Amino acid sequence: MVHSLPDLTYEYNALEPYIDEQTMRIHHTKHHKTYIDKLNTALETHKNLIGKPVEELIKNLNKMPEDIKKAVRNHGGGHLNHSFWWPLLKKDIEFKGEVSKAIEKEFGSYDKFKELFSNAALGIFGSGWAWLVLNNKKLEILTTPNQDNPLTEEKISILGIDMWEHSWYIKHNANKSAYVQDFFHVINWDQVNKNFLKHK
Ligand code: MN
Repeated sequence: MVHSLPDLTYEYNALEPYIDEQTMRIHHTKHHKTYIDKLNTALETHKNLIGKPVEELIKNLNKMPEDIKKAVRNHGGGHLNHSFWWPLLKKDIEFKGEVSKAIEKEFGSYDKFKELFSNAALGIFGSGWAWLVLNNKKLEILTTPNQDNPLTEEKISILGIDMWEHSWYIKHNANKSAYVQDFFHVINWDQVNKNFLKHK
């Protein structure tokens, strides 16, 4: 299996005005596509790994052959993170479902969760992601640098935000915090709930 770019199930302008069409188009067709191309190139020299799903590569990152470990970490991680991210985005979905109850129980309220998640995201220096994960069935907020995914540390992501400049700079310029505010308008809570129910 050669890795390939998943289609979006919505139009590039579907998240306007919170995430703009141009950003979505470049992010999907250029950034995500490049991670996939570079991952495929790296795997060419390791035929036994070509058929493996990207989740498996990232879960077993520490067992990857040394000569491609860095490429799998960066480009495999980039592929996994973005494939996970696109379905998480949908406009005007109400905070609901079993996951909403679990978040309120763990963090006190939606507003408190929003504050903690935003602070984590804005606290990242340089490029990375903030995540809501299940760590041994417990909800936690954490961040990873670059394209690292919590799965390598055996944590299951159920929500994430891409904090690379390429995901916000065209629309929000230097106003990273406005991007994080806008992100809360495009969280597909149905998808987050699905992710939660699969692993809770
Ligand atoms: Mn990105």
